[in-house]
Amino acid sequence: MSLRIVVCVKYVPDATGDRHFAEDLTVDRDDVDGLLSELDEYAVEQALQIADGADDAEITVLTVGPEDAKDALRKALSMGADKAVHVEDDDLHGTDVMGTSLVLAKAIEKTGYDLVICGMASTDGTMGVLPAILAERLGVPQVTLLSEVAVADGLVKGRRDGDTASEQLEASLPAVVSVTDQSGEARYPSFKGIMAAKKKPVQSWDLEDLEIDADEVGLEGAWTAVDSAAERPARTAGTIVKDEGEGGKQLAEFLAGQKFI
Ligand SMILES: Cc1cc2nc3c(=O)[nH]c(=O)nc-3n(C[C@H](O)[C@H](O)[C@H](O)COP(=O)(O)OP(=O)(O)OC[C@H]3O[C@@H](n4cnc5c(N)ncnc54)[C@H](O)[C@@H]3O)c2cc1C
Repeated sequence: MSLRIVVCVKYVPDATGDRHFAEDLTVDRDDVDGLLSELDEYAVEQALQIADGADDAEITVLTVGPEDAKDALRKALSMGADKAVHVEDDDLHGTDVMGTSLVLAKAIEKTGYDLVICGMASTDGTMGVLPAILAERLGVPQVTLLSEVAVADGLVKGRRDGDTASEQLEASLPAVVSVTDQSGEARYPSFKGIMAAKKKPVQSWDLEDLEIDADEVGLEGAWTAVDSAAERPARTAGTIVKDEGEGGKQLAEFLAGQKFI
């Protein structure tokens, strides 16, 4: 039977652009270019490698996001994924991690899956908690923050590297895993891959398709609220210490003044 892999990929504002909050304190996604979260490219790469080693596998890439989020799906398809699912609905505006995980879980159940692969964190929200909440919602094991991952005999196995030790972990399928940026360089889409991606199917669903009520998501359904946000002050020139015999002392005084030492 085919191994059904779903990769959760997020469309995020480009971190090199100017990013702002909108009036309702949500991230302003309209005025900034977006792209596939770089950390999710590692998840796509691992899915492709697992699929290469399987007799028969199908990779679906899934995103919850605005119309432009299709760009993230196209990138993943051009890397080699087979098909895509895009969940979009005006009522998703302001959805937090609890709502996003609900929508992803419903879409994953509707798609069908044996293995869900996520990135270690998005490059905008960077909470790194979604895979764990997703596994809980799906009622399946989670093996998170893997720097090595493989599937064999109905199990997903991997290595998690901590500061002081590495753990070998495994879980029975179906399961949710997240992979780190140490899991292996993500491939660049080839020209052939980019052309092929244009013909791959992209399924669009809204909240009604997933039988989710609007009040379970959006700002209204969010479990978290942003009370205030302020622009970061512009960078200052910094302090330059000229060493005229007392440089070391001055550096130490500066660091102590900033409470670094
Ligand atoms: C239109 C829209 C508006 C939003 N507005 C807000 C808001 O106002 N306030 C707020 O707190 N949150 C908002 N969110 C949700 C938020 O952007 C995150 O998706 C969610 O909170 C997960 O947190 P994170 O990004 O830190 O994920 P992490 O936990 O850091 O992500 C880990 C992994 O989960 C997967 N993942 C995360 N998000 C998605 C996604 N959307 N689609 C597919 N895979 C995903 C990726 O594999 C990622 O690597 C909004 C989302 C959308 C689509």
